[in-house]
Amino acid sequence: MTSKPLFKRVLLKASGEALMGSQGFGIDVAVVDRIAADIAAVRAMDVEVGVVVGGGNIFRGVAVASKGGDRVTGDHMGMLATVINALALATSLRKLGVDTEVLSAVSMPDICQSFSQRAALNHLKRGRVVIFAGGTGNPFFTTDSAAALRAAEMGAEAILKGTQVDGIYSADPKKVPDATRYDTLTHDEVLNKGLAVMDVAAVALARENSIPIIVFSIHEEGEFAKIMVGEGRATIVRD
Ligand code: UDP
Repeated sequence: MTSKPLFKRVLLKASGEALMGSQGFGIDVAVVDRIAADIAAVRAMDVEVGVVVGGGNIFRGVAVASKGGDRVTGDHMGMLATVINALALATSLRKLGVDTEVLSAVSMPDICQSFSQRAALNHLKRGRVVIFAGGTGNPFFTTDSAAALRAAEMGAEAILKGTQVDGIYSADPKKVPDATRYDTLTHDEVLNKGLAVMDVAAVALARENSIPIIVFSIHEEGEFAKIMVGEGRATIVRD
């Protein structure tokens, strides 16, 4: 690929679901290796890459709350799940020789560095992939909100939201075959139509900071790199 990338710095959001492959739970190393290869290809284009990983393949706080347990403790478990995923992705990236650092919003210094904006920017400028673990570090938030927050803090030019399908649809295309697919939308349209692509707080934060959200299929090999040069199939959310 010879075209010049459109962005200097981006934030990729990979949900926990993306890492579990067809297993239905946990981590499929082959799938994580493939996503790591896609990230490596974008790094090779000299784009600075931050990644926020979810934890839904392992644990979600609402699962505790729905069974009468304490939501905050459940969310702590969910945040720890994101750290497990971050370490798995870092391992796959390092196997490919990609310099990678995990920064966690929840301090666990024996395992990874703690998040600070300063440390993250320093790693990015040195060409390292930075994986943001632990979400926002607060219960009642999601890793989508963490993605918008870290993108704003990093001055990322776009949030790449890797999903199960190739963009935003009016309804889940796996359940509603004739759902409409959008090529472009504004942040307001996403919010007003109630489109289930990222939670409201995440979209509102991206809107306030004028950060475009590019929604694409994380399962399409090489798609991340194609989108960096304006190719590939995605829905673009911008004002
Ligand atoms: N979580 C949290 N605060 C955050 C981010 C995540 O409490 O800032 C918890 C929450 O319980 C959530 C879980 O971590 O359900 C996993 O995150 P998320 O559901 O966003 O993961 P994804 O759906 O992207 O896999």
